Amino acid sequence: MKLVRFGEKEKERPGVWMGDGRILDVRSLAFHIEDYNEHFFANYGLEQLRVLLDDPGAQYVSAEGVRLGTPIARPSKIICVGANYADHAKEFGHDIPQEPILFSKASTAMNGPNDPIVLPDGAEVVDSEAELAVVIGKKASKVRAADALDYVAGYTVLNDVTERVVQKSNGQWFRGKGFDSFCPIGPFLVTAEEIPEIDNLRVWQRYNGDMLQDGNTADMMFKIPFLVTYISQGITLLPGDIISTGTPHGIGSVRDPQVLMQPGGVVELGVDGVGEQRSNVL
Ligand code: MG
Repeated sequence: MKLVRFGEKEKERPGVWMGDGRILDVRSLAFHIEDYNEHFFANYGLEQLRVLLDDPGAQYVSAEGVRLGTPIARPSKIICVGANYADHAKEFGHDIPQEPILFSKASTAMNGPNDPIVLPDGAEVVDSEAELAVVIGKKASKVRAADALDYVAGYTVLNDVTERVVQKSNGQWFRGKGFDSFCPIGPFLVTAEEIPEIDNLRVWQRYNGDMLQDGNTADMMFKIPFLVTYISQGITLLPGDIISTGTPHGIGSVRDPQVLMQPGGVVELGVDGVGEQRSNVL
């Protein structure tokens, strides 16, 4: 299944992307499914959706021209992994990390997959980073690696937009990666069973039509089961939480000449089989 949230910003409704030009309007049948939030995932929401798909009374809306929001309502945490692809770590002059570098993005930075990315006042060096993100499906604490994927509801695409000058000068990455609109997510939450080979997915980005990133999740150093285990040893993951797994090499700011996000630019990025985004830069 591909879960979407559709409609006006902050008034999105939960839906299922049918792939035939229609979106199942979940609330037309299930008033109690308020949104794709912690409560939804914790209370067998995905199982309920599967039943709705077979309901003859299901109502649909046309997908054409509909705005999509992030496929998950505001989660308790957006945890990101830095320098998780060796070639990307090298292009930034990082040592290869011995343990995952974790940071977080502000939930208010969340942006629909095709919403504009609005550069903050004074922005100088802004990059987009195409990433595969994991959505947690049930409360996870001290999870063993062998069980880790049982805690994953599915996958989505996340753009870890970053203002490098602020990132580097602040000592902490939170502000440079946390500006409003700096976290486009979606378009879909693709449920886990639809992606059997999570370790072999192309991750790519184009800026103004030129290919910047063309990597593969096969090159991720810390894999998803390890990340869920590592984080959950001391930090409880809640249903709906997002773990963004890092970006491959090819980032614009470390190219020669640099390719920087500027007003009027267009970012397209995606993970094959999971989805793609297209954002105008304002
Ligand atoms: Mg990143």
